[in-house]
Amino acid sequence: MKRRTLLSAVGAVASLGIADRTTRAPAEPLVVRIWQTEEAAARPSAQKRAAGYVRQALEATGHDVAVSYEEEPLRFDGSDQHVEREAWPKRVVAGVAGASAVDPVRDVNLLLTDGAVARPTAGYAFDHIAAVPGARFLAAMPPADESPAVVDYGVPAAVTQLLVHEVGHALGLDHGHGSVAVDGDTVTVSPMVSGYAWAPDELRADQLPAGICRGGAVKADDRRRRLAMRFSPCAESALRSYRGGLFS
Ligand SMILES: [Zn+2]
Repeated sequence: MKRRTLLSAVGAVASLGIADRTTRAPAEPLVVRIWQTEEAAARPSAQKRAAGYVRQALEATGHDVAVSYEEEPLRFDGSDQHVEREAWPKRVVAGVAGASAVDPVRDVNLLLTDGAVARPTAGYAFDHIAAVPGARFLAAMPPADESPAVVDYGVPAAVTQLLVHEVGHALGLDHGHGSVAVDGDTVTVSPMVSGYAWAPDELRADQLPAGICRGGAVKADDRRRRLAMRFSPCAESALRSYRGGLFS
């Protein structure tokens, strides 16, 4: 889903002042922490798989990457979509103020749910906060270091690419950082384009404006779909110069 500002989602809660960006030395690692809902925790491999694919994608940007898990599941009320878009960001913001059990990290605070993955806007991200559904599918993926960098389309692979997509948003990337490569009857999409390459025309045009990396609006048609698990070169380049961090 296209990134929105944290302020628009959490309203008054965001007046805590956490939106102040800080800069840090290049040598400091990118810090990612992965939480899970109770439903996601029933898929024991999901967190490990998520950590592996996120680490792999981010290490290619030249950063040291520190990924950790919170194994104690979080309880939420409401639909998975509500949790991903509203309840989780609010809990992270509350955590910054010391008012929730969540102790946010500086770069990416990621929640795994086991919510539905078929809806067109599955997954969500704000600056430094992301949530992805489909823990059961993540758990079905091979470990990142045993998987090729580009794989055939399948639901587990698409959910894993969505995970990388939302982490990209959380670090400031947009869909314009994505790439689409056509080779004969095959089309390979990078994480920041993901399933938008084969979305209906209107949605694709809305979500994939002329990209920074170019080629983002290419239509997949009925070509064989391939999913890259690492960012496009220009997305990697953008992340290489990332010096953000909200919560330090
Ligand atoms: Zn998106």
